[in-house]
Amino acid sequence: MIYFNEPPFVGTELTYVRQAIDNKKICGDGEFTKKCNKWIEEKTGSQKVLLTTSGTAALEMAALLCDFQPGDEVILPSYTFSSTATAFVLAGATLVFVDIRPDTMNIDEKKIKDAITDKTKAICVVHYAGVACEMDAIMDIAEKHDLLVVEDAAQGVMSSYKGKALGTIGDFGCFSFHETKNYSMGEGGALLIRDSAFNEKAEILREKGTNRSKFFRGQVDKYTWVDYGSSYLPSDLNAAYLWAQLEQADRINNDRLATWKRYNEAFADLEEQGLLELPTIPDSIVHNAHMYYIKLKDLDERQAMIAHLKEHNILSVFHYIPLHSAPAGEKFGRFHGEDGFTTKESERLLRLPMFFGLAPADVDFIVKVVHDFFEE
Ligand SMILES: *Cc1c(COP(=O)(O)O)cnc(C)c1O
Repeated sequence: MIYFNEPPFVGTELTYVRQAIDNKKICGDGEFTKKCNKWIEEKTGSQKVLLTTSGTAALEMAALLCDFQPGDEVILPSYTFSSTATAFVLAGATLVFVDIRPDTMNIDEKKIKDAITDKTKAICVVHYAGVACEMDAIMDIAEKHDLLVVEDAAQGVMSSYKGKALGTIGDFGCFSFHETKNYSMGEGGALLIRDSAFNEKAEILREKGTNRSKFFRGQVDKYTWVDYGSSYLPSDLNAAYLWAQLEQADRINNDRLATWKRYNEAFADLEEQGLLELPTIPDSIVHNAHMYYIKLKDLDERQAMIAHLKEHNILSVFHYIPLHSAPAGEKFGRFHGEDGFTTKESERLLRLPMFFGLAPADVDFIVKVVHDFFEE
């Protein structure tokens, strides 16, 4: 069986988890949490990174930091994971979905302006498959209309746009370290903050509404409950697992990129014959091979391909049911403009196995089985 995903494991995880235990510090903000925060800060150029319990938690923190008032709106794509939307709902925002571009499956930056009202407070973009949105255009709109920008970069760790790491361009960036992502700690994530004016509020939010972080830095002589908050800091055991992978981030990234390239070159003939569409990578970006997807003719052909792959013990998956047509999406938001591509393109898309350590021979086998589908 070729699985769709296997959690990343480089081999040094257990050593570091053991070390966290020996440190007699397995709660949050221990040695490994600090190491991971610092590594991400240095790698991305972010002035402040806070490891969180999930990508969803990072999105919740970002949404709470936006400080939505009743009736305030956030503009976001409908083609995304529920977390992107539900984080803003929890923070009290009304959702305004806009269409995606068919080439990258990212929010169509040209559709944002028309969705802005006097209630709009923020834009949340999703860098689908680790491929950057058109951030220059998006940041221009945000500046003109005085809006905050949240980057859902859950899939975009190690990707960049015009030389800038994803997650560092907008006001807040959100990473995920779920086991299905490029780097993992089981469940986990990180919040990246651009403006240091938000640092203290973010630390309070993450530490149950207390100024405990300030206390540990010796900036106050006792810590107390100062504002609303939650518990968004992960255990150092999980951070130790992640640290092993961050140390070998390039090895993981190169391995994934090689798999991505192998698929892409092997499917070029099918694309030429008009049988498949392959992912588009704009010139101005560097991606991280988070995903390899193909686009079939329509929903029926995709379902047939899933069954065909399954017959050959290959597991492939699709996503997402567009959020505006999901029960919660109807309750908490509206779609602005026309759904030209969100539904149509999501029904054609199929994700093939992609993970660190996927054997080249397995990729070749998957490629062959996909070719066979069109020959039969
Ligand atoms: C994975 C993912 C999330 C959620 O991350 P978790 O760590 O699973 O909470 C949010 N948005 C997108 C686009 C994702 O792919």
